[in-house]
Amino acid sequence: MSFTLHGIPVSRGIAIGRAYLIAPAALDVDHYLIEPTQIEDEVERFRAAQKVVHQELDELRADLAADAPTEMGAFLDVHSMILNDAMLVQETIDLIRTRRYNVEWALTEQLERLTRHFDEVEDEYLRERKADIEQVVERVLKALAGATGSLVSIHGRCDEMIVVAHDIAPADMMQFKTQTFQGFVTDLGGRTSHTAIVARSLGIPATVGVQHASALIRQDDLIIVDGDHGIVIVDPAPIVLEEYSYRQSEKALEARKLQRLKFSPTQTVCGTRIELCANIELPEDAQSALDAGATGIGLFRTEFLFMNQKHGMPEEEEQFTAYRRAVELMNGMPVTIRTIDVGADKPLDSIGDEYETAPNPALGLRAIRWSLSEPHMFLTQLRAILRASAFGSVKILIPMLAHAREIDQTLDLIQEAKRQLDDAGLAYDPNVRVGAMIEIPAAAIALPLFLKRLDFLSIGTNDLIQYTLAIDRADNAVAHLYDPLHPAVLHLIAFTLREAKRVGVPVSICGEMAGDPSLTRLLLGMGLTEFSMHPSQLLLVKQEILRAHLKTLEKPVADVLAAFEPEEVQSALERVARA
Ligand code: PEP
Ligand code: MG
Repeated sequence: MSFTLHGIPVSRGIAIGRAYLIAPAALDVDHYLIEPTQIEDEVERFRAAQKVVHQELDELRADLAADAPTEMGAFLDVHSMILNDAMLVQETIDLIRTRRYNVEWALTEQLERLTRHFDEVEDEYLRERKADIEQVVERVLKALAGATGSLVSIHGRCDEMIVVAHDIAPADMMQFKTQTFQGFVTDLGGRTSHTAIVARSLGIPATVGVQHASALIRQDDLIIVDGDHGIVIVDPAPIVLEEYSYRQSEKALEARKLQRLKFSPTQTVCGTRIELCANIELPEDAQSALDAGATGIGLFRTEFLFMNQKHGMPEEEEQFTAYRRAVELMNGMPVTIRTIDVGADKPLDSIGDEYETAPNPALGLRAIRWSLSEPHMFLTQLRAILRASAFGSVKILIPMLAHAREIDQTLDLIQEAKRQLDDAGLAYDPNVRVGAMIEIPAAAIALPLFLKRLDFLSIGTNDLIQYTLAIDRADNAVAHLYDPLHPAVLHLIAFTLREAKRVGVPVSICGEMAGDPSLTRLLLGMGLTEFSMHPSQLLLVKQEILRAHLKTLEKPVADVLAAFEPEEVQSALERVARA
């Protein structure tokens, strides 16, 4: 039966494919008692599933790329060991034999006992193994259900698949960078949640906040994801399918046409030159930035290098290699490396528990606050970034600053990192520029503190909106209130652009607003000349810039900023679009 679900469009385009469910509800299994005569068959079912998982793990180990992190192999070895462990295997079989539980029930019951036991263990390393046991049990349950795979073991026909999940953590999204899916649908999430941002960076259609999608959509259902309108059509009628296939081919044609803009200079009709830079999460993403015609990296979100690392932070050498890789790929073009922005919806595995217990992680120890509380870690990152600056044009960007004291402490630590490199005889660019994200309203309002101390600014509209409107950017329950066009938000952006320009401090926008082509004219009219966005958005925004005339934007943009009533804002925006 065909039905339609609605959510929040986060990555444009149309995807048509089969649903691939990634269900955290995998542990929600049937519970029933078996007959005494079925006991040995049930044990045999368990053994067969165990064998399937062994094979899966062996295949994964064999498929590991030569440059895969060493932890990956170790992680698979641990899973194989758990799969043979008597605590899991023998105890599960005992439950089948003595209590006559079906195997899924026995397995989840034993998992519960083991996790209770692990929770009481003092040793942090051992406590962390709980997650490994859960993952192994999940794999066995999938094998029992006949469904193969998990986040790391998706093989085969993934190019026809649409991932459907309750939620996908940013760290898990990163794993999709190596696989080609048609699209994403999640029950949770907001427009600028980090999961949505990574989905957009993959350039494939995605709709989030589609409540109950993962419960209503079944494995292998044929689905259409309309990433422009936030619609998911399950089991579409043939005529609907035909219509969407047609729209999909139209869009592919438009995308090919856009490619022609790639080499033309980015300037408005009146000749004002605009910089279009790219946001990246991993060094290799610099290649997509170049492919899209970016003239620099405006935001390298380094925290993604720190994710999926169960055993602490990457060492200085590993970080240096990653930063240098991006710098070298960009071949002399500027690379703005933001220091780690962990916390809130981007926890690190190694410190995840601290966030879970923080009363309000978005207002807690995240980004620069965390870095300043961990000076050893911060200095390691600063040294690695500075060393990369010897290989090209690097700028250092600091997230979530609000206080003069924080800026001063950060600048002192950068000096200290330079001193340490001098002592070690390691090269770096002594004139490396340091900038701040303007993403807390206090920073925008107290802008002179920033203008006096820093070399450049970058407005992080995602957080600026979140903190100005008190709307959790990842919470779909309040997603309708997350409004980039709220007068308070627009005023903070306009003020920051105007003041920075007045004193000659370069300013860009690297939040998602910069990559939204429907806002390009407005931002140009507010004085923005440097945009940074996901490479997938770059040519769409460029197309708007090439059609814009700054002089004719002046009056309607001034009207938008003078308006407070929603209808007035809307009608002024329509004039901006027509100008
Ligand atoms: C922002 O807040 O706008 C931003 C670019 O940073 P992030 O999305 O990583 O918080
Ligand atoms: Mg931010």
